[in-house]
Amino acid sequence: MRVLLVEDNTELVSLLKKGLLRGGVDADSVGTAGDAAHALATMTYAAVVLDLGLPDEDGISLLRGLRRGGDATPVLVLTARDGVSDRVTGLRAGADDYLAKPFAMEELIARIEALLRRPGSLLGRRLTLGNLALDTESRQVFVEGGTHAFPARETAVLEILLRRSGNVAAKRLFEDQLFGLSGDVGSNAVEVYVHRLRKLLGDAGATVKIHTVRGVGYLLTEDKVG
Ligand code: CA
Repeated sequence: MRVLLVEDNTELVSLLKKGLLRGGVDADSVGTAGDAAHALATMTYAAVVLDLGLPDEDGISLLRGLRRGGDATPVLVLTARDGVSDRVTGLRAGADDYLAKPFAMEELIARIEALLRRPGSLLGRRLTLGNLALDTESRQVFVEGGTHAFPARETAVLEILLRRSGNVAAKRLFEDQLFGLSGDVGSNAVEVYVHRLRKLLGDAGATVKIHTVRGVGYLLTEDKVG
């Protein structure tokens, strides 16, 4: 689970990151609307925390642009402005929730968790293919009624594959989701996790197959032969 923090106050960013991590949520951060637009164009985040007062562009314009482009990522708007009109503007521009500064860290975490749980967001709770299912909240894997707890990164790889099943998932997508913008990704890191996941799925008896599409990424299909 990875969220994007769009906030130019570095002190606040560092507090937010620590608070989110305690709640089991990883975060990338950017300090300008331009960098945010770039990050959102290249990565898929579970949610965005958006400060309205950014140095280069108003957060509201960024949000409007996102929604116009069809991006439905849940967005929680942060602002120092306390007026009702700003709140309404934010919600009209497509924000899912709103929090005025100053706020308690616990409240922000609780609001983000609520956004991630909200039905109708991009986060389907249970993803299935063949005899395999993944509960995206409990992170448990089910095969033929048996329950498995795979390691976190192998589970993250599986989630991406299931969300894209039938389509090739680009290698870049795995690197982004597993390691974030700041992560140092070894050239074989994704291969290693895919290899481990193949073994876990095979041992569990899952009737799915991970295909390597050379130079592009990976594809998950149902393996009807078993
Ligand atoms: Ca600001």
